[in-house]
Amino acid sequence: MEVSKRALLGTIAALLVLFVVGILGKWEAENGNDCFIRHSLRETAAKAEKSAGENTTGNTTENTAEYMEIKRIALTFDDGPHPSYTEKLLDGLKERGVRATFFVTGEHAELHPDIVRRMSKEGHLIGNHTYSHIQLTSGNKETFKEELRRTNEVITKITGNEVLYVRPPYGSWDKAFEKELNMLPVLWSVDPLDWCCNDAACVTRKVVKAVSENDIILLHDYYASSVEAALMIVDTLQEEGYEFVTVEELLLD
Ligand SMILES: [Zn+2]
Repeated sequence: MEVSKRALLGTIAALLVLFVVGILGKWEAENGNDCFIRHSLRETAAKAEKSAGENTTGNTTENTAEYMEIKRIALTFDDGPHPSYTEKLLDGLKERGVRATFFVTGEHAELHPDIVRRMSKEGHLIGNHTYSHIQLTSGNKETFKEELRRTNEVITKITGNEVLYVRPPYGSWDKAFEKELNMLPVLWSVDPLDWCCNDAACVTRKVVKAVSENDIILLHDYYASSVEAALMIVDTLQEEGYEFVTVEELLLD
């Protein structure tokens, strides 16, 4: 009896040990491994996140670079050419590798054909700003058209190129002229009113604050302060990733 009692106790003890080991094993399997799996998952997720972060950063940089490449903008200058300011502007644009659009009057183009020729040679686009800077009204349509035709002739005689773009003084235009004259009007989206403030820093600030991609900036190469502002605008916006193109390049894209 003593022996079978011991044997029974021994068996119970062994079973208890097996049971405890089994429980611990199960716990290990469920929790320990799970912890390991979770840890691994966390690590993998962290790695993925890090890699995604790197990719995101990479993409962001890449996108920014791409975005910067296509951030185009156009500088336009009306009323010239001026005998000294326009040349100064052309020098500055050349140094900076910038092409702009000049809406010249026929009158000023006739007075300074060399400057108009230089504009064309250096890759700038030349448009029509009427002959004597007249404003279109309901009563002067024929005179206005005649001024445009005359100015086209003046420009074409100097550059050899057909004139397709017109900046109507004060923005007054008649859509019917587009077919009649085979010309497109080019208005503007940023106007710092450079002609009235004589302050290059102020004009620059206004433009830089207002500008965004595909804008057409209106300036006049007939004022020293506007020319100075134009070059400061170029320097600032080039640093911000803008590329200066002619209005034709902007409109055709
Ligand atoms: Zn004008």
